[in-house]
Amino acid sequence: MDFLKDKRSPVKPVFVNAHCHLELTNLAGKMPKNKPFFEWLSVLRKEVENWTKEDYQASYLKGLELSSKAGTSIIYDVGNQMSEPEFSGFTKLYSMHEIIKQPLPEPCTPHSIYATPPELVREAVKSCVKAGIPWSIHLAEFDESDRFCDFLDIFKGEQEFVRNGLIIHGNFLKEGDLAFMAKNHIALVHCPESHEWFGHKDPEFEMWKKSGVDICIATDSLASATSLDLMEQVKTLFRRYPKAFTHKEAMAAITTVPGKYFYI
Ligand SMILES: [Zn+2]
Repeated sequence: MDFLKDKRSPVKPVFVNAHCHLELTNLAGKMPKNKPFFEWLSVLRKEVENWTKEDYQASYLKGLELSSKAGTSIIYDVGNQMSEPEFSGFTKLYSMHEIIKQPLPEPCTPHSIYATPPELVREAVKSCVKAGIPWSIHLAEFDESDRFCDFLDIFKGEQEFVRNGLIIHGNFLKEGDLAFMAKNHIALVHCPESHEWFGHKDPEFEMWKKSGVDICIATDSLASATSLDLMEQVKTLFRRYPKAFTHKEAMAAITTVPGKYFYI
């Protein structure tokens, strides 16, 4: 049969990781599970207390190496230590500077509405939209305290800038939030291992899917996950929620769906 003679390898899917923090890779195995976020954060701060710029860079490079081994081609990374190297072997690497309290050089994106002052959230998001790069923000993760409507309020009179972005976690998003996101090219990024790590409430997958919002599956960092392999995230998702997605939907969530936001 002719096709058996064809030695070309089949076209592989392009794996796209829409959310990670590569500079935290070397925290693997050092962070507690099932702790309230701010307790977890204080352990993180202690762990990195004496890290030098070189330590962050080594951690970042380790993350790149692991991602590459796992077959990831496109990475949207957020970090605030300016630890990214100038060159990498990646087809596409978005190294975003994540703003917490202080402005950072572009390309930058806000961390969250609880950690980043509103004016810096606004400026970072606007700069991304103007540059045609997706912005990202951790939002609606813990409870009702970091709501989508509070994020929208930051853009009073300039809501046209709330498009082409990534909402990370979004455990507490409401139907109306999802409808807004679906209409404005804003994806919801679910990180299965990280979700389990913090013991968040079960995601409302049915509502997410019904809304038509783009759903991406990503890794988050090794400070709240054990692997930077997107397939491992899919396995975690199916172990915990076997009926939430079809295999086709799960594969799309690590390839073509996030792929709509990034270009090679
Ligand atoms: Zn994150």
